[in-house]
Amino acid sequence: MTRGLSLLGATGSIGSSTLDVVARHAGDWRVAAVTAHGRLDALLDICSRFVPDLAVIADPAREAELRGALRSRGVPTRAASGSDGLRAAAQIDSADTVVAAIVGAAGLPPTLAAAAGGKRVLLANKEAIVCAGDLLMRAVREGGAQLLPVDSEHSAIHQCLASATDRQRDVRRLVLTASGGPFRTRADLEAVTPEQACAHPNWVMGRKISVDSATLMNKGLEVIEASWLFGFAPDMIDVVVHPQSVIHSMVEFRDGSVVAQLGTPDMRTPIAYALGYPARIDSGAARLDFLAVGNLTFEKPDGRRFPCLPLAYDALRAGPSATIALNAANEVAVEAFLDRRLPFKSIAVIIEETLQRSVTSAVREVADVLDLDRAARETADRLVRAPAVA
Ligand code: NAD
Ligand code: MG
Repeated sequence: MTRGLSLLGATGSIGSSTLDVVARHAGDWRVAAVTAHGRLDALLDICSRFVPDLAVIADPAREAELRGALRSRGVPTRAASGSDGLRAAAQIDSADTVVAAIVGAAGLPPTLAAAAGGKRVLLANKEAIVCAGDLLMRAVREGGAQLLPVDSEHSAIHQCLASATDRQRDVRRLVLTASGGPFRTRADLEAVTPEQACAHPNWVMGRKISVDSATLMNKGLEVIEASWLFGFAPDMIDVVVHPQSVIHSMVEFRDGSVVAQLGTPDMRTPIAYALGYPARIDSGAARLDFLAVGNLTFEKPDGRRFPCLPLAYDALRAGPSATIALNAANEVAVEAFLDRRLPFKSIAVIIEETLQRSVTSAVREVADVLDLDRAARETADRLVRAPAVA
C-alpha cells in the first residue's frame, strides 16, 4: 500500500534528505504536500518531480506566482500560502505521515496541527518541542498521533530504549553525544565568521543549526528535546563530546549496560528509521567502516567556552517560560550573527541577558507560547541593537 507524506520545510537540508529517501521507495511512498519559505524555484522543481496534491509558500504575496508557475509547467498541484496553507499541508487527508522540518519556532503551529490531526509526526523541528513540549506531547496524546524523532541523537535514544519495559525504573541516564562543532579545538572565538561557523566537520546542515552546533546550543536544545520526548529529568541527561560522530547517543541502564547506536553521520539514516518504523528500510547512507574509523574518543563539554549548553540546562530546570525565551533569543542572536550584526561570542550574552529580563508565566495554550516568544524576541532584538552588548 502506498502511504502519503506531507513534508513541511521541503526545500531545506532535512527536506531534501527526506525526498532522497522517499525517492528510493517510490512504490511505498507518495509525496502529498510540500511547503517552503522563500525558495520558490526549489519548491517548483520538487513539484515537477514529485507532483504533490498541495504546494505551500509561506508568503501569501507569492501564492499567485506559485500557482501561475505550476500551471505553466503543467503540474496539477494546488497552491496555497501563509499559516492557513501550512495547516492544510499538516492535516492533508492524503498523508498519514508528516515530516516537521521547518526551522525555528515558526514550525510550531503546523507541527501542533499535524499532531492534533492524528498524523504520524516525524519531528526534525526541535525548536517546536523546545518551546512547547508540554502542548505538543498533549496534542499527540489527544489527537491519537504518533511522534517519532528525526534528530539523530533522539533517533539513537529511541532505538536504545526499545528493549526497556520500564524506563523510569531501568534507565540510569541518557548520554547525548556532541561532535563539539567546528570550534572544539579553536582557542580564540572572537573573530569567528559565519562561513567558519557553518563549516561543520561532520554534517552538512541548514545555516541556523550549523551555528547552533558551533555554539553547542544545538546540544542544549537537544537536551530539552530529549527531556520531553522520553520523559527524563535534566539530571538524567548527560552530554559527552565525541568528535567522530559515529555513536549518535547512548542509554545507560541500572545493571551497568550501556546501549549505543552507531552509524555514519548521514541524516538519511534517522529519516529512514522514522519513515519505516518499526520496519527497517534502505536509506542510501554509506555503511560504517570500523577499520576506517579507527578510534572513538570522548571529551567533557567545556561550558565556560560554550556557555549556551549550561544556559539550556538552566532554562529546562526553570520551566517552559525560560525555554521559550532561550529559544527565541537564540533565533534572534543567530540571525544577527549570520547577518554580521553580532559577534559570535555575543550570542550567549544575548541569550543570558534575555533570560534575565524575561517574565515567568503559565503556558496553557499555543497563544501563551507565541506571546512569550514575541516578548523574548523583542528583548533580544533590543539587546542586539544596544552598542554595549555588541
Ligand atoms: P534549512 O534551513 O535547511 O531548511 C529549513 C526549511 O524550513 C526550508 O524548507 C525553509 O523554506 C523552511 N522555513 C524556514 N523558515 C520558515 C518559516 N518562517 N515558515 C515556514 N517555513 C520556513 O534547515 P534544516 O537544516 O533542514 O533544519 C530543519 C529543522 O531540522 C531544524 O529545526 C533543525 O534543527 C532540525 N534538524 C536538522 C538537521 C540537519 O542535519 N539539517 C539535523 C537534526 C535536526
Ligand atoms: Mg542532532
